[in-house]
Amino acid sequence: MSASSYPEISFEARMATVEFRIDEDRAHITVDDTICRDCSTRGCITACPANLFVPTAAGGILFNYEQCFECGTCYLVCNREGAITWTYPEGGHGVVFHRS
Ligand code: SF4
Ligand code: SF4
Repeated sequence: MSASSYPEISFEARMATVEFRIDEDRAHITVDDTICRDCSTRGCITACPANLFVPTAAGGILFNYEQCFECGTCYLVCNREGAITWTYPEGGHGVVFHRS
């Protein structure tokens, strides 16, 4: 199956396929905004399928872990060591159900 055979899906429809159980006590991913200010690629902004990385007017990154798919893409594309601290959510939290 080639990649071109996958159907188009809107952002809203993509997000609606997943339910999240948010851990209010611990963010499983954190972003050091001070490191992001010197980043030239900012790959996280376009690579995150949930659009959780938002550039700020001051040159930093605003990040929200709550609707994270736990795909790991941001950690792979980030080109600045220490900018992203990535762990899985505690058991029972994070992505808890995928609708097909
Ligand atoms: S790619 Fe990494 S260093 Fe660059 S803006 Fe994104 S999180 Fe920050
Ligand atoms: S793990 Fe995936 S969904 Fe979560 S913040 Fe990183 S790129 Fe976005």
